Amino acid sequence: MKAPPFRYVRAESVDHALDLLAEHGDDAQVLAGGQSLVPALNLRLAAPKLVIDINGLSALGGIVIAGDSVRIGALARHAEVLTSEAIQGQLPLIAKAMPHVAHVAVRNRGTFGGSIAYADPAAELPACAVALDARFVLQSKRGRREVAAADFFKGLYQTERAPDELLIEAFIPRQRLGFAFAFGEVVRRHGDFAIVGLAAIGRWDGARVQDLKLVYFGCEDRPKLATGAIKVVRERKFDAVAVEAAVAALDRDLDPVGNLLGSAAAKRHIAKTITRRALGSMFRN
Ligand SMILES: Cc1cc2nc3c(=O)[nH]c(=O)nc-3n(C[C@H](O)[C@H](O)[C@H](O)COP(=O)(O)OP(=O)(O)OC[C@H]3O[C@@H](n4cnc5c(N)ncnc54)[C@H](O)[C@@H]3O)c2cc1C
Repeated sequence: MKAPPFRYVRAESVDHALDLLAEHGDDAQVLAGGQSLVPALNLRLAAPKLVIDINGLSALGGIVIAGDSVRIGALARHAEVLTSEAIQGQLPLIAKAMPHVAHVAVRNRGTFGGSIAYADPAAELPACAVALDARFVLQSKRGRREVAAADFFKGLYQTERAPDELLIEAFIPRQRLGFAFAFGEVVRRHGDFAIVGLAAIGRWDGARVQDLKLVYFGCEDRPKLATGAIKVVRERKFDAVAVEAAVAALDRDLDPVGNLLGSAAAKRHIAKTITRRALGSMFRN
C-alpha cells in the first residue's frame, strides 16, 4: 500500500517545529527515523495531514555526560547509542539492551526519541528508561517540562506527550558504583520485538538487595514494574528460596496480554524464567 496524501515540512529550527505542532496538533506527526511512522503511513494506520521532519535539528542530537546523568538527544540514532562511550561507560543496562533493538539497517535511522515517543509495549528502550529513572524533556509553545519515565507511558502507543509537544531529550542517571543490572528477552529471531523481556537493576548492600527495579516489556500495554516481586526480594535474605518467592509474586504483578507472539500463559512463563536468570546473575547467593 501507499501512504495517504500528506503535506511535508522540513523543520528549520526547534521553534519552527513547535510552531507547526501548535498550529496543527493532532493533525501533525513528527518524522524522526521514520522506522515506525513510515510503515504506519504505508499501512494507513496513520493518516496525518502534515508530517514535520525534524532530522535537520542538530539541537536534538548528541549523547553527552551531564553531571550525574547522561543526556541523550531525541534524535540520537540507535546506532549512535549502541557505540557511544558515554552509554557503555555510564549506562551499561542500555548498552546491553541496544544490540536487541531491531537490525542494523533500522538502527542506522531509528532514534532514541522515536522509540520513547512511539511507546511500543514490546520495545526495549522504554523499559530500560523506567528501570533507570530516566526523565524526558518535552517542549511546546506553552513551555518546557520534565516527565519521569515511570509516568510517561500511559498505554498501548499512548504517552504523556501532548500533541503540541516535541520530545527534546532524555536525562538518565549514571549507574552508581555497587549496582548490578541484567537484561533479558525472548524473541523468535534476534532483532525482532520481544515476546517478553526484562530490564533489571539493583544493589547488594552486604545483607540485602536494595533499590531493585524489575521492569517487564512485551507483557502488558506499557513497561511494567513488578512491585510485589521487588518487595519480596527486598524483605528477605537473598537466596534461592527468595528468588522463587519473587517469581511466584509475578503471578500477582503481571497481567500479560496474549498476542500473535505468545499467549498470556506463555508470556507469564517466559517472564518467570528470565526473572530467575536475571536475579541469579545479578546477586549470586
Ligand atoms: C523491521 C523493524 C524491526 C524493529 N525492531 C524493533 C525492536 O526489536 N525493538 C524496538 O524497540 N524497536 C524496533 N523497531 C522500531 C525502531 O526502533 C524505531 O526506530 C522506533 O520505534 C521509532 O523510532 P524512529 O526514530 O524511527 O521514529 P519515527 O518512526 O520517525 O516516529 C515514531 C513515532 O514517534 C513520534 N516521534 C518521533 N520522534 C519524536 C519526537 N522527538 N518528539 C515527538 N514525537 C516523536 C512520531 O511522530 C511517530 O508517531 C523496529 C522497526 C522495524 C522497521
